[in-house]
Amino acid sequence: MMKTSIYGLTFKELTDWLVERGEQKFRAEQVWDWLYKKRITSFDQMKNVNKSCITLLDEHFFIKTLTEEIVQESSDGTMKFLFKLADGNLIETVLMRFNYGLSVCVTTQVGCNIGCSFCASGLLTKSRDLTAGEIVEQIMHVQMHLDKRAKEERVSHIVVIGIGEPLDNFDNVMNFLYVVNEDRGLNIGARHITVSTSGLAHKIYDFADTDIQVNLAVSIHAPNNDLRTRIMKINRAFPLEKLMPSIKYYLQKRNRRITYEYIMLHDVNDKEEHARELSTLLADHRHLAYVNLIPYNSVDEHDQYRRSETATIQKFHETLKKRGIASGVRWEQGADIDAACGQLRSKQMKKAE
Ligand code: SF4
Repeated sequence: MMKTSIYGLTFKELTDWLVERGEQKFRAEQVWDWLYKKRITSFDQMKNVNKSCITLLDEHFFIKTLTEEIVQESSDGTMKFLFKLADGNLIETVLMRFNYGLSVCVTTQVGCNIGCSFCASGLLTKSRDLTAGEIVEQIMHVQMHLDKRAKEERVSHIVVIGIGEPLDNFDNVMNFLYVVNEDRGLNIGARHITVSTSGLAHKIYDFADTDIQVNLAVSIHAPNNDLRTRIMKINRAFPLEKLMPSIKYYLQKRNRRITYEYIMLHDVNDKEEHARELSTLLADHRHLAYVNLIPYNSVDEHDQYRRSETATIQKFHETLKKRGIASGVRWEQGADIDAACGQLRSKQMKKAE
């Protein structure tokens, strides 16, 4: 019998699983409480749960599957975790501190096949999807790390924007969202969770049809197909003619603001004409569009790119504003650690080579 991570089960799945095996329904509430509120690390710590139920759980599930390999902490409080999975693969998770709370950026795949040309993770092709349990455990591990500091800090926000394309691992990511959003457990509000996609149009339709009101961000990075294909090869499969209708479907279903991620690359996509073109692309839903301008965080592997000048970023922002598109600049966190997506993992893998 293959054991799996108990964190991968939604509350309903756990309840059904226990009831099918002759346990009372209320056991699921007890187990859930021990896992997510008291945050135990072994089933025999669940004091009010009967022995037979503990044995049953122990026979079928793990609680911990990740091993912490490295933790880096930046002077601004950003923390980066490198985890080893049970099969030896490495993944990264980042905790960021904002004035509105603590936000964790999770990884959803080992490597990534999307191939964004500016990204360190994109160089390491996908070897597998993470299970829902492995994604939930990243949050649990960070929360337990905070618990040990006894500052009563709580992970309040999640961004599914780390290594991997979340919508390419759809079912596991959905289960993850249901688990962390469950009010008997971590109770992280759907409006505090953002899923970011590189633009898998067919999956955006599926995502719009789900019943959980989490935020969606789309990595747009360029205002036209030529440039977008140059920066992100996924644009060949899902060019703007396919992507934009899927976003409009999402907006019709949800009527919620959508964030567009735009990485600012010097002399590549940061000219005034690009800002104008982008504002035209988003014009028909400008009241629901927000553009996140991201100063490029250079990685050793991509020396063809440089960060746009601050004045250029400001001008881009002004042009969007004049044309009725809201935008802001997301300054980096953790500048003194390997905070760029995939950096810590790729450095560690090079050392092991
Ligand atoms: S930016 Fe994200 S989607 Fe693009 S290659 Fe990197 S990990 Fe994959």
